[in-house]
Amino acid sequence: MASSNSHRNGGVGYTSSITSNGTKVITDRQQQQQLFSSLNSINPKSSTTSSLKPKSSLRRSSTGSIAGSATAKDESRGVRGRVRVAVRLRPRNAEEAVADADMPDCVELQPELKRLKLRRNNWDSDTFEFDEVLTEFASQKRVYEVVAKPVVEGVLDGYNGTVMAYGQTGTGKTYTLARLGEEDKSARGIMVRALEDILAEISPETDSVSISYLQLYMETIQDLLQPTNDRISIIDDPKTGDVSLPGATLVEIKDQKTFVDLLSLGEAHRFAANTKLNTESSRSHAILMVNVKRSIKGKDSALSVENGNASHAAKILKPPIVRRGKLVIVDLAGSERIDKSGSEGHTLEEAKSINLSLSALGKCINALAENSPHVPVRDSKLTRLLRDSFGGTARTSLIVTIGPSPQHRGETASTIMFGQRAMKVENMLKIKEEFDYKSLSRRLDIQLDKLIAENERQQKTFQDEIQRIASEAQKRIAEVESNYAGALESTEINEFKKLLQNETLLRRAAEEEISSLRNEVAQWKRLEAAKSSEILKLRKLLEDESQEKAKLEEEIAALQSQLLQLSFEADETRRNLDKGEMAKLSGDLDSLLPQSNHQSSRDFGDGASMAKLFEQVGLQKILSLLEADDADVRIHAVKVVANLAAEESNQERIVEAGGLTSLLMLLRSSDDETIQRVAAGAIANLAMSETNQELIVSQGGLELLSTTAANANDPQTLRMVAGAIANLCGNDKLQMKLRGEGGIKALLGMVRCRHPDVLAQVARGIANFAKCESRAFTQGTKMGRSLLIEDGALPWIVQNANNEASPIRRHIELALCHLAQHEVNAKDMITARALWELVRISRDCSRDDIRNLAYKTLTHSPAFQAELRRLRIDYG
Ligand code: ADP
Ligand code: MG
Repeated sequence: MASSNSHRNGGVGYTSSITSNGTKVITDRQQQQQLFSSLNSINPKSSTTSSLKPKSSLRRSSTGSIAGSATAKDESRGVRGRVRVAVRLRPRNAEEAVADADMPDCVELQPELKRLKLRRNNWDSDTFEFDEVLTEFASQKRVYEVVAKPVVEGVLDGYNGTVMAYGQTGTGKTYTLARLGEEDKSARGIMVRALEDILAEISPETDSVSISYLQLYMETIQDLLQPTNDRISIIDDPKTGDVSLPGATLVEIKDQKTFVDLLSLGEAHRFAANTKLNTESSRSHAILMVNVKRSIKGKDSALSVENGNASHAAKILKPPIVRRGKLVIVDLAGSERIDKSGSEGHTLEEAKSINLSLSALGKCINALAENSPHVPVRDSKLTRLLRDSFGGTARTSLIVTIGPSPQHRGETASTIMFGQRAMKVENMLKIKEEFDYKSLSRRLDIQLDKLIAENERQQKTFQDEIQRIASEAQKRIAEVESNYAGALESTEINEFKKLLQNETLLRRAAEEEISSLRNEVAQWKRLEAAKSSEILKLRKLLEDESQEKAKLEEEIAALQSQLLQLSFEADETRRNLDKGEMAKLSGDLDSLLPQSNHQSSRDFGDGASMAKLFEQVGLQKILSLLEADDADVRIHAVKVVANLAAEESNQERIVEAGGLTSLLMLLRSSDDETIQRVAAGAIANLAMSETNQELIVSQGGLELLSTTAANANDPQTLRMVAGAIANLCGNDKLQMKLRGEGGIKALLGMVRCRHPDVLAQVARGIANFAKCESRAFTQGTKMGRSLLIEDGALPWIVQNANNEASPIRRHIELALCHLAQHEVNAKDMITARALWELVRISRDCSRDDIRNLAYKTLTHSPAFQAELRRLRIDYG
């Protein structure tokens, strides 16, 4: 019974008033119907969500119940729930049946209209409307269902609940609430049925039910389960507004039998106590407290937040939610007034004390019904104990019991009015839900133990697995090893062996190669060492040579100055001399050519100065200068040698000293035209003697002269070369070589230079050659055609046979005569028209000997004779 009723002000009022004619007028009928239609939905969620469904084992109260209704929703404070009031009429007992036999009941019930008519007199009555009107025929079952069941359901859902019986002694409060129904099951009262429903509904694993059973008498609370405990105090929790009785015995109920036994024990104690105290049980209040603790799933909880996707950890760490509904069933003392006279043997003070709690209850209900600002809750122990039942958060059902007897009409009327006032009391139903931290802690401890155990188990399993894998691996390795060994022994081993042999052979070959290469390298190294010592020797030699060379160069410098001096003197001398014949050409042909000059006389000084030179310098030194580095020195030296060679007396000495060889070398190596000309001149002079001629040829002179002839352009050089070859042509022994080594060809080649001096030397050579050939024919050592004709000399011979230069003409005429002497040449000569030249020579040649020779030849040659005849030329 809250001291403030402000929360009820905005509620949907359920008001009734009694009219003057005794008819109760319902002021808000429509609302009343709504209230009853929602009687069994005290949980605000049940009407909007399907999460809180009625359990099948507990049939939910029907719409006929009176036990409460939500009038409105208040999120913060709960749900409005008016105190529900039913009235129950006891049937007439035997006594009444006799005493009131002629009289009608003081009440008339209209259960369908939930109305009760209280007779004033025979013609007048007052009508009252209740939440439920239970006739004398109403079964205990029906009474439970309409009065208590909705409250029990609320308790199971976590609300506090109160079922209280109010009425005159003997009207059936105890009958309604406390009957055990052990003989007749249908007689079971509200307490037994409530516990049946609760025990059927809860889960024994998670939920619990415990009871206390108390008696309140003269403001003393006695424990009916432990009667010696008769001074139980009430503890108010100012924070929550809850009251508790820590001294009361609290027995947990697991089954119905335990409960029934406890109830009967409590009844026995109550009876004994009242006997001892010399009191009537009707003067005491019996209070059964049933504590129901239920664990609920988070989503069903009012505490559970809207956050539906909380993490797993958060879920684990979230403490379980428990709902603690407390059902209080109060069997009040009889409501009749105690005779203040103390007719029952009580003093006035005692009487006051006996009635205190009940009258305090009446006052509180009046205050609440009238919305009085002050509700005197603390006036009595009963009102303190019931503070949550009236004007609190509990769902409260009040059953008022009345008797039918007109004799107790006053008490009945008083009871009815109490009920009517109680109907105006409005509670604010609130679910009793809290986090169960203890349970969470227990649960976490258990989970931790489990996890530790699981972890240990897993470690063990892991270790075993490792052990197993290791031994398995060991086994496999052994298997593989033995398999491998077997495989090697069998098929593959032969292949491997072959491969190995091959490899061994290859390796051996490679090793051999390497060792041979090593030997080679060693040899190389030895060779290299030898070479380097040789190189050292050669270097030494080179140094010596260099020193020698330096000495020689000094000498040469001295000689050069002498030579220059001599040259100068020689030139002087030459200028002073006439162009006389300084030397005479040797050989038979030369005798035919007295005009042919000695080449050197003109060019290189005279014999006297040369003799002088010999004496002054010495032949050896002069020859050595032919190889001098300095070109000027070489030129001077070759000129000196050429001059010396022009002197027949010097020739032998020059050749002996190696002069011829040096000159040939010079001709071979030098590109200088002057040197070539002078050297060729010297060679030509040396070529006058038969011995020298052979020496020249044997030293490759013919080839050198031919090369020079082919390359030179200067007519004087060509003249010298041609002269030299012409000299060689006069040697019988050299005929074949002259032809074989290209001497004749070289001679004929030089006619490209039209200089008469050159042509004269060519002609002289041809004449010399033809003469030697002729001699060979005569001696019988030569057969066949002339080599000159073979080498193609004949056309040039014929062409120049009548050359105006007499030296050329004479030599050619002579050559023609020699060729014509031999019949083998005749045919070619005729073809080449040489016959005509011979005829001319035989007629016109100024030299008698040649003219006669030609004539003789023509007349003796059958071929020529024949040709002449054929041409009808009369000759001879
Ligand atoms: P109270 O507890 O209110 O003093 P009781 O429960 O002791 O009254 O009832 C008085 C007597 O009336 C008892 O003998 C009881 O069996 C009887 N009685 C009460 N109510 C009924 C009822 N509805 N039907 C039959 N007998 C009843
Ligand atoms: Mg009783």
